[in-house]
Amino acid sequence: MAFLSPPLSPCDIVKQYRFHAAHRNPELRNKCSNIHGHTYQLACTFRTLSEHINLKSGITLEFGEIDRRVEAILSEYDHSLLLHNDDSLLPYLQQFPESLNIRTFPHPTSAECLALHFLERFLHVGLPVLSICLMETPRSGVTVYNQMLNTQVFSLYQSNDDTEHDY
Ligand SMILES: [Zn+2]
Repeated sequence: MAFLSPPLSPCDIVKQYRFHAAHRNPELRNKCSNIHGHTYQLACTFRTLSEHINLKSGITLEFGEIDRRVEAILSEYDHSLLLHNDDSLLPYLQQFPESLNIRTFPHPTSAECLALHFLERFLHVGLPVLSICLMETPRSGVTVYNQMLNTQVFSLYQSNDDTEHDY
């Protein structure tokens, strides 16, 4: 396939997901310390390489396979209450396990920490996640990066660069 000849290129797959959840950040001295809800939007980038394109199907990873793994994880958090496990409300709220789908974390439930949490979870199910942009609101969010994958891919390019190329 002539169009797949070098130079190698990342083929970054971009997928978008969302889930609804409540949380609070009691460390902040503002309205964010109240329990409130967000429709979290995730824009996820998965790094594949042009050299991994299947020559028959023309793809690297099935979008549907990514969806299956990501959605299985996100469904655990959808319509849940996300709380730091040292939240002072937790002992009280845990008296109502049937009515409150509480998910606890060993860290605050800020956009920064949640984005890193999902980055780790996606890696654990074998997804080559490069970055996650987690939007708490349409105007505010955080992007986190898997620096290790960046490094691995960069090393891969270097090790393949045995010959001189003009491009
Ligand atoms: Zn919030």
